Amino acid sequence: MRRCLPFLLLSVALLFACQTVPITGRQQLSLVSSESLLPMSFSTYREFLAKHRVIENTPQAQSVKTVGARIRQAVQEYLSSQGLSERLKGYQWEFNLIEDKSVNAWAMPGGKVVVYSGMLPVAQNDTGLAVVMGHEIAHAVAAHGEERMSQGLIAQLGGVALSTALSQKPQETVNLFMQAYGLGTQVGVLLPFSRVQETEADRLGLIFMAMAGYDPRAAADFWQRMSAAKQGAAPPEFLSTHPADETRIRNIKEFLPEAMRYYRPR
Ligand SMILES: [Zn+2]
Repeated sequence: MRRCLPFLLLSVALLFACQTVPITGRQQLSLVSSESLLPMSFSTYREFLAKHRVIENTPQAQSVKTVGARIRQAVQEYLSSQGLSERLKGYQWEFNLIEDKSVNAWAMPGGKVVVYSGMLPVAQNDTGLAVVMGHEIAHAVAAHGEERMSQGLIAQLGGVALSTALSQKPQETVNLFMQAYGLGTQVGVLLPFSRVQETEADRLGLIFMAMAGYDPRAAADFWQRMSAAKQGAAPPEFLSTHPADETRIRNIKEFLPEAMRYYRPR
């Protein structure tokens, strides 16, 4: 009986360490506190920007900021109307375009988004950009980075150091963050999101772009263009972490009727 106790405690702790993703209602593990994670994310993001050429004051850079701000505002208003504003507590949204021909984009915890200039020809216009950014904003809103790190904590520590993991600033959290987003290698590439998270980001991304007034019917064409770009000599980086395939395009089409219910054309 005594031996069961740690497992019982672990189960109870995990029960309280769950949260629900808005709209999809999926239960996710949440062992990493925003208080410890967001400052790391923000400083890593700043460091990344310092090491890359941030494009400022061009129409393209302005598009990235405008599309990002419109989607962010629509999502904030929606979450607020549902009494879920807490979800975005401490977020400091930022949308930057950097000079880099990789077909890539990513989001760090707390709303720090980067779009690479190589993505622009595939996006083609603001609506295409809204597909990419809706997807990235969805990863941030659904806290997929935190979830992945929480799973990593469980995998690395098991139940043994759960109390440590649950404390404010465990070294393990820092280590996992550096593994995930460290600047040593390619930022955003080391922590592939799971298939479940990718599909969820596709579904929420469509809804978020629709809420902001971008036509979600454009998404399937965007992913077709991504798929075509993949046929080139160098597969886009975005695709190595964001698998684009027929399944994804089929899912997008399946999610479309739901997204259309949120669509508010401007
Ligand atoms: Zn993704």
